This record gives sequence, C-alpha cells and structure tokens, in this order.
Amino acid sequence: MTETLDIKITKTTNSRLSQTDFSNLPFGKIFSDHMFVADYADGEWKNFQIVPYAEIGLTPAISALHYGQAFFEGLKAYKHADGKVSVFRPDKNAERFNKSAERLCMPELPEEIFIQSIAALVDLDRNWIPAQANHSLYIRPFMFATDPFLGVAPSLTYKFIVLTCPVGPYFSKTLRVKIETYYTRAAEGGMGYAKSAGNYGGAMLPSRKAVEEGFDQIIWTDAKEHKYIEEMGAANAMFVLDGKLITPSTDENTILKGVTCNTVMTLARDWGFPVEQRRISVAEIIEGAKNGKLTDAFGAGTAATIAPVGSIGHDGEEYFLSDPKTREFSQKVLKTLDGIRYGNAPDPHGWNYMI
Ligand SMILES: *Cc1c(COP(=O)(O)O)cnc(C)c1O
Repeated sequence: MTETLDIKITKTTNSRLSQTDFSNLPFGKIFSDHMFVADYADGEWKNFQIVPYAEIGLTPAISALHYGQAFFEGLKAYKHADGKVSVFRPDKNAERFNKSAERLCMPELPEEIFIQSIAALVDLDRNWIPAQANHSLYIRPFMFATDPFLGVAPSLTYKFIVLTCPVGPYFSKTLRVKIETYYTRAAEGGMGYAKSAGNYGGAMLPSRKAVEEGFDQIIWTDAKEHKYIEEMGAANAMFVLDGKLITPSTDENTILKGVTCNTVMTLARDWGFPVEQRRISVAEIIEGAKNGKLTDAFGAGTAATIAPVGSIGHDGEEYFLSDPKTREFSQKVLKTLDGIRYGNAPDPHGWNYMI
C-alpha cells in the first residue's frame, strides 16, 4: 500500500448482527452493518466514506439505469481458525475492475482505493464473517453512472460502492447443465470479458428457459457457430479430459477471466498436472462424456467456488458424468483451496491478503 486512504467512518448505532441467523444465510440477501461509498466528479475520486448500510437517494434519470454504465466485482473474505481474516487475491479483482471500467468508458479506480476500501470495510464488519466451514463474507464492489442526463454519452459522475454479505455455499447440489446453442452471451468485439451489469440481464431469459427444461445452468457457446464451449453462468468452465485440465481460451475477449479459474490452473501446474487453455469444441466434450475420458467437469468462480457438473444436456440428450465425490482432481482442488483460504495450509503464492 502506498498511502492510507482518508475514509470518514460513521458507525451504526443499531447493529443487526445479533438478530442475524448465521445458520440460514441465503446468498446475497443479508447485508452486513456497513458499506463503503465514494464519488467520482470533476475528474477525481473523493468523499471516501463508510456508512451504515442503507438506501441511497438518486434521481430516476441516472444514466446507469438507462444506458447500462454499470459493472461489478465479486470476492470473498475468510475467517481463519485463529480468528485472523483474509481476502483472496483482491489485486486480481482490482485489475479486472479497471478492465471493465475501460470497456464501459468509465473512470479508472486506483488499485489502492479498491483494496483499501475493502480492507477498511471488512475490518469494521469482521464479526459478520461466518466461521462455519464453506462460509465466507462475499464482497461486492461496483461502479455506476450517476449523471441525471437522458443523452447517450459517458457520464461525468459515478459512484463506487462496496457491500458485503455473509454467505454459505452458492450451489448446494451437483449441476445439470445445458449446452446452449441458440442464445449468445457475448460475441467477439463485445463486452463478455467485462463484469458489466448488461451481460447478466441478457442471460436471464436463456437461463430461465434452461431452468424450465430442468437444468440448473447454461454452458454458453461461441456466438459465431455455437460449436465451442465458452463459460457457465457466473463461473468458468473447466474439464479434465484424457488426463489434462482444459479450459476455454480467453483470447477472443468473450469470456470473463476468472480469478478462481486462474487459481485452479496455477495449482494444477504446481502439481505437474498438464494444463491446456485453448478452444474446446462441444463435440470433444460430448465424445469424452460418452467414452469416459471426461473424468471431471466443474464451474469455477468466487461465488460458486468449485461447482461440480453432474450431467450435460446437448441436442435433446443428457450425458451423465461420474459421482463428484469420486473425482480426484476437483476434490484435490477444493481441499487445497479451502486449506489456503481458511489459513490451514501454506499459501506459497501469497494469495491471502491479511486484514
Ligand atoms: C464472476 C464471473 C466468473 C468467475 O470469476 P471469479 O473471478 O473466479 O469469481 C466467470 N464468469 C462470469 C461470467 C462471471 O461473471
């Protein structure tokens, strides 16, 4: 950290902590006591504040609501057995935050502001981090345009806010996924690599249709031919095929470059496990599911962590994979990741940012 951010802190006089049932934490519905807020105006970030979580007054004309200049990040804080608190790889999220900002013609947020705002907020609300296994504090930084102007142009003013939510596991079961070959999430030249709000709005109808067909998630394919695997919901698609870890190439800028996916690839390389990041055809995944060479398949993401795929639907057929509990690779990844994040194993890459 270069310098310390001057944050004005107003603490709540009415904490909701004691009324919160930590044994029942639906994802993203329970917010901790405080939030971080900053404003962008006159070409700079200012008014750094931590205030009680509450509604914020805004005019209905703000351009984020009309033209979609809005994006977010997602990361997590973990409580260790000794009471210490860490945030997992926040520098990677800071980097991606600015890639999203650039794509949406929004201002850069210096990495120190991103990380120090999170550190100060998590520190203040550290009692909100659940201590149970598989639980954490989900951190949601986001930025949106606030000019009251109904013209299509980049806003001159913005807000940066950070919210936090105590959470348990996002998916509680093995996933039935559908390979989507009609709808498109992102095309080359589009904004698939940005965590922009609009990407998720556009995914809701196809996702709802998939759910109506009995699936839990979509695996997106490329916009041109629908022949190559892209990613899953809000997680990157990872497979073990013929003894190699494979995940789609992000070179076309249609895929969100996940921190979790990068972490899994790094662990695999540490273990000497072959890793390939390349175009993956739907045909080879289906072939692998049929002949048994597809021994592992999962979504990798901060919210989802490692979400095992139980079966893959394609062209009206459903292909069943092995029982996730028997899968060597993803079980080892999960165990290693948990060990690092909860402070029970060495952290050789320095991924834990201690608060
Ligand atoms: C957030 C997200 C991911 C996963 O990224 P992580 O950094 O691992 O959380 C993957 N795909 C999409 C579309 C996402 O929004």
